[in-house]
Amino acid sequence: MFKELEPPAWLPELSLSIQRLGPRYALLLLATAAILLSVALSQLLISLLGYGDRLAAAICAAACALVLTSLLGTVLLRVLAQLEQSTLQLKRYSSTDMLTGTVNRRAFLNLIEREWALARRYETTCAMVMIDLDHFKRINENFGHRCGDMLLRQIAEASSETLRQGDVLARFGGEEFGLFLPHTDPLGALDVAERIRERVEQLDFCWNGHCIPVSVSLGVAALQADHICLDQFVNAAEDALQQAKEDGRNCVRVGDGLMPGRAAEFRT
Ligand code: GH3
Ligand code: MG
Ligand code: MG
Repeated sequence: MFKELEPPAWLPELSLSIQRLGPRYALLLLATAAILLSVALSQLLISLLGYGDRLAAAICAAACALVLTSLLGTVLLRVLAQLEQSTLQLKRYSSTDMLTGTVNRRAFLNLIEREWALARRYETTCAMVMIDLDHFKRINENFGHRCGDMLLRQIAEASSETLRQGDVLARFGGEEFGLFLPHTDPLGALDVAERIRERVEQLDFCWNGHCIPVSVSLGVAALQADHICLDQFVNAAEDALQQAKEDGRNCVRVGDGLMPGRAAEFRT
């Protein structure tokens, strides 16, 4: 959908060149080029016709080109600036979830794919946390969708507060958030997940005078050698999240084989 709205490929280059030059110099350059071209055309026309005053034609052509480029050039520069602003806005809209302000699933997967590949290649650590609101449907049914939307925003905010620079939080879909933690080992990821769980549990979420207890379930997966594609890594976190739901919600669970000897500890 957004692909169709994308501006032509030359537009960013053109606006970058104009930005580098500054609008005044760009206009001057445009006027000079237009004057030279019109004078050359007027002389060519006289040569073809075989009669006419070359000097008068050149002066007329230059004057017309100057007036036209001043008027049209100013309009064109404004249109370009506006177009560039719209392009930036469009890019932001296409990668942001407008309800929570976090990145959307598509942008998230694009963002983490490179990080994930680098971590695999250089054998560094990274982790993925899936966060899902517990019994969110009930909250929507009992208090309405506007209340649900407000809660989603607060969950995103509460989760973001615990993050470091470089961590990426995304609305993965519905009431599920994905969190990518680069350069984070399994214990670090569990720590982050547990902090988010506690923070959400402690949220004083009230709607129309009702205080509503809220909680999230979280699944953690760390990068492992047998994750040969990004999907496997993400699915491992989804499976751990499913386990957290099965184990009664409002808890953190880790993927199988994540930390031999420690996974069981986090299942209690
Ligand atoms: P569980 O604890 O098993 O996760 O139960 P749940 O009720 O949270 O999960 P379920 O998948 O049954 O319901 C998810 C609900 O999330 C259903 C849907 O109406 C609601 N939902 C999805 N997106 C939005 C949204 O953008 N705003 C609001 N208000 N609700 C949403
Ligand atoms: Mg849910
Ligand atoms: Mg869900």
